[in-house]
Amino acid sequence: MSIRRTSSVCHVGNIAIGGDNPIRVQSMATTDTNDTEGSVAQAKRIIDAGGELVRFTTQGTREAENMKNISASLKADGYHTPLVADVHFTAHTADVAAQYCEKVRINPGNYVDPGRTFKHLEYTDEEYAEELKKIEAKLVPFINICKEHHTAVRIGVNHGSLSDRIMSRYGDTPEGIVESCMEFLRIFRRENFNDVVISIKASNTVVMVTTVRLLVKTMDQEDMHYPLHLGVTEAGEGEDGRIKSALGIGALLTEGIGDTIRVSLSEEPECEIPVAKKLVELIPECTQLRAEAEASIKDDTITLNLDAADWETFQLKAAMAVGALLIDRKATKLDITSSASFTTPASLISLADAILQAARIKFTKTEYISCPGCGRTLYNLQETIAKIKAATSDLVGLKIGIMGCIVNGPGEMADADYGYVGAGRGKISLYRAKECVLKNIPEEEAVERLLELIHSDRSTNSTN
Ligand code: SF4
Repeated sequence: MSIRRTSSVCHVGNIAIGGDNPIRVQSMATTDTNDTEGSVAQAKRIIDAGGELVRFTTQGTREAENMKNISASLKADGYHTPLVADVHFTAHTADVAAQYCEKVRINPGNYVDPGRTFKHLEYTDEEYAEELKKIEAKLVPFINICKEHHTAVRIGVNHGSLSDRIMSRYGDTPEGIVESCMEFLRIFRRENFNDVVISIKASNTVVMVTTVRLLVKTMDQEDMHYPLHLGVTEAGEGEDGRIKSALGIGALLTEGIGDTIRVSLSEEPECEIPVAKKLVELIPECTQLRAEAEASIKDDTITLNLDAADWETFQLKAAMAVGALLIDRKATKLDITSSASFTTPASLISLADAILQAARIKFTKTEYISCPGCGRTLYNLQETIAKIKAATSDLVGLKIGIMGCIVNGPGEMADADYGYVGAGRGKISLYRAKECVLKNIPEEEAVERLLELIHSDRSTNSTN
């Protein structure tokens, strides 16, 4: 049985994260944060489903200011769940949001460093130290506002939005991702501010799990024990999104890591909560199953015998039980057996294939890396995903990124073969790997143009 990692406690409004507190489940609104009524209604749906924190995107001070109205309306209706502002690109927005929200998420990749452009930058050690001073100069006033208002902070690093500065010095490595976080944490510690939660997310489950483990080790070495928020970004939707999240988050939960989780799905945000709750509920059983499955390994194959009340729980349980074993490549094959009446030999094989794909071992279908959407989303995400899926589901092994905006788009595209990214209202940019090949095309044409791009590349490659 795993023992939960001992973390410090972060106070967020009327709840606490970390320590012996329950693992908190959370989600993020997809509404326009300036739309108070719509945002309040969606937050209520998330909270009614069991969400313990609700995050909103705050692109600028207008959205940050409106968090005051959203918070007041929710409280007037008896909803006291902590609200979180999500800030990218503008440090000043964090200063404003800290006055109205119980928690502010900042992204070290774009808090002071400009958004990623994939340029290689050269720094002397002195110049690099100067860059860190610039971060400190912005961060300390923010920390002081948080202290004054009792606002907690999440340092949320995303593999998809690491800065050019970090990438140039450390490369695209777990060490670079962890350092991006540690640079900020050291400043928080110097300022004696402890209401901090950390997250490191990636759409690639192997990167996510490996990096979070390295973060825990690095924090321990520096005697830091901040609570951890876990999530697989751009996990997609439906069964594949659930399996990918269960595999990545479950790998860490079954080794005692994780104090709050978000299952990011490209669906209505309240749909994320039952899945997250289920993962938390399954920790003891899956920790045991993980040990049994490890003991079963023979000829590079894990044998997993399972039962569950329903098919969705069965899928989550299977992915969670074997996630770490596959990510660590203790085996690369999976044989699932069951006498449950809702399973068939074909469904068990298909589930094993989906789990192996989520662990990036064997690709048997098209891989979609789609963001969950938020107030920054620039087009109808769910409809677009459905259209793209319908037209590309036969392209086995191809990785297609579908991102609502550029925050994580181009970064996660580095892992995808093609990317469909919201560039402006009604405008889409198309990527081939990390190169933007068609900019600002009208949304109505974009899916068709993406298909043309894929098919023309494939016919060129097949004639070469
Ligand atoms: S990539 Fe998607 S979820 Fe992330 S900020 Fe952009 S629209 Fe929101």
